[in-house]
Amino acid sequence: MRPIEEALKVVLESIRVLGTERVPLQDSDGRILAEDIYSRIYLPPWDNSAMDGYALKWEEIREASQDRPVRLRITDEVRAGAMPSKSVHSGEAIRIMTGAPVPEGTDTVVRVEDTKSEGDGVSIFRSGKKGENIRKKGENVRRGDTVLKTGTSIGPGQLGAMAMVGKSIVTVYRRPTVMVMSTGDELADLDEEITENKIPNSNSYAVASQVIEAGGIPHILGIARDTRESLREKIGQGLAGDMLLVSGGVSAGEYDFVKDILKEYGIDMKFWSVGIKPGHPLAFGLVGGRPIFGLPGNPVSTMVTFEVFARPALLKMGGHSSIFRPLVDAVVEEEFHDRPGRTHFVRAVVRYKEGRYLVRSTGTQGSGVLMSMAYANSFMVLPPDKEKVLPGEVVKVQLLGRPVEYGS
Ligand code: AMP
Ligand code: MG
Repeated sequence: MRPIEEALKVVLESIRVLGTERVPLQDSDGRILAEDIYSRIYLPPWDNSAMDGYALKWEEIREASQDRPVRLRITDEVRAGAMPSKSVHSGEAIRIMTGAPVPEGTDTVVRVEDTKSEGDGVSIFRSGKKGENIRKKGENVRRGDTVLKTGTSIGPGQLGAMAMVGKSIVTVYRRPTVMVMSTGDELADLDEEITENKIPNSNSYAVASQVIEAGGIPHILGIARDTRESLREKIGQGLAGDMLLVSGGVSAGEYDFVKDILKEYGIDMKFWSVGIKPGHPLAFGLVGGRPIFGLPGNPVSTMVTFEVFARPALLKMGGHSSIFRPLVDAVVEEEFHDRPGRTHFVRAVVRYKEGRYLVRSTGTQGSGVLMSMAYANSFMVLPPDKEKVLPGEVVKVQLLGRPVEYGS
């Protein structure tokens, strides 16, 4: 039985990053950047006004106050979208709108609230500070700056930044294609009737959703029966993708042929047993360089082992520079007993209250109790030697990207 950290290292070392493709900016949301993005421009391109007001030389108004305003002559107006056509000389000011370039000869903008205009003149009631209300050329980004780095996942902020520097076509990593298959004579799929000897196939759907969440494209291959022929056929189909996930049939039972058939396909088996709970019989290997996971069939085991091993593998394959979920410290709310020996991923609900995370388990933790996953937004990660946790104790909690309740 390999410790988790060691098994994860073996997995990640076997993963190669996929190739790239070019997509229009609008289609790059949720994808992973496969190029560094540079700016070819200065933004703002010129010093510009942060306020509606008057552009002037600060020297001329340094004595201005409510009682002794300074009067200047308005010689022009600049709006956003226009360029100034005049420069400012002694005794003059130019009316300016937010975002408009500041005219030559000016160093300060006084906001309109601190002025009063009459005819072609304006009274300035406040000196403020030299340079006030001017946004400097390049304060957002300068020519040659790196805007985003390879491996960044693209969301709203990144999309906006790329639009800002005029990037209309983006090089991103290809999304991994992941073949998802379930095994078991007892399984009935969604379109089948659940008779007394059948249980519903939930793994294919839960795992496909996990694949999407990890940036992959799942292909549900359906159910292979517990015969060599059926497994041979489905696993053969499963080798068409970038990764194959098989659930069930990897323990030591009489009809657990998955490992045998993978051997027929020439698998380079890296391990088949990891010290993780739930999910101890977990097989991992490569067929023709393609990673294959034999996930244990119990629904919670399948999902937990995917989270811990297949998810970071997929993220790496998809070019992500950051492949792990956030891990936070949380205060235990309820006593929880454990059997030592394996790292335990306890399905849990974490919430945020008065400056810290609080955590409790979702209840019964059997590896077949899928409801423990349905209610969870996190895992308490308990090390192999842990026998119990007590209220008030601080434990490590892995967040799952689900909503977290804030407040009381
Ligand atoms: P196995 O790993 O094949 O021994 O399966 C362990 C347990 O997980 C058995 O009780 C199976 O019925 C259950 N199981 C296996 N595959 C699935 C699946 N696709 N959906 C739901 N439960 C499953
Ligand atoms: Mg089975």
